[in-house]
Amino acid sequence: MTTAPDVLRGLSAGPAHEVPGQARDRVAPGSDLAPIWGWLDQVPDPEIPVISLVDLGVIRGLAWSGDTLEVTVTPTYSGCPATAIINMSIQDGLRARGVQKVAITRQLSPPWTTDWLSEKGRAALEEYGIAPPQPAGGPSRCPHCQSENVSKISQFGSTPCKAQWRCGDCLEPFDYFKCI
Ligand SMILES: [Zn+2]
Repeated sequence: MTTAPDVLRGLSAGPAHEVPGQARDRVAPGSDLAPIWGWLDQVPDPEIPVISLVDLGVIRGLAWSGDTLEVTVTPTYSGCPATAIINMSIQDGLRARGVQKVAITRQLSPPWTTDWLSEKGRAALEEYGIAPPQPAGGPSRCPHCQSENVSKISQFGSTPCKAQWRCGDCLEPFDYFKCI
């Protein structure tokens, strides 16, 4: 299991941390995709680095086309400024593992929804103090003390994807992941 702190440590340690002596080897085109999903699961979301791009659910598919790895990406929402950074992170993350040719295809339909956030991602968000998205459109509980006595302070938090809420019991403000 990869935990969020592992992801962050891995980044600062450089790309060769997981497979010493192997990271620079070229990945053979057509090779098994499972480890590649694992590598992408270590590429952090640029806006919320405690979750990976795989946790976020934006990586929809991987396929080899000749010697090129095709990555299908659905952006979180059209106004999200992180889209270009997400594509760069994918390219960099895969090149560091020895995938030489990467082609990223944008897939806008079906549109990304917060339902695509993984359970691991939701748990990492809450542990980090961000309330994970709920079908009701507001947080179900305070990520600090689990109180359900919460109220909205502002429609916009530290990024456009988040709203600011406050807990009525522990009085701590927190971000709510509100995208779509
Ligand atoms: Zn609280």
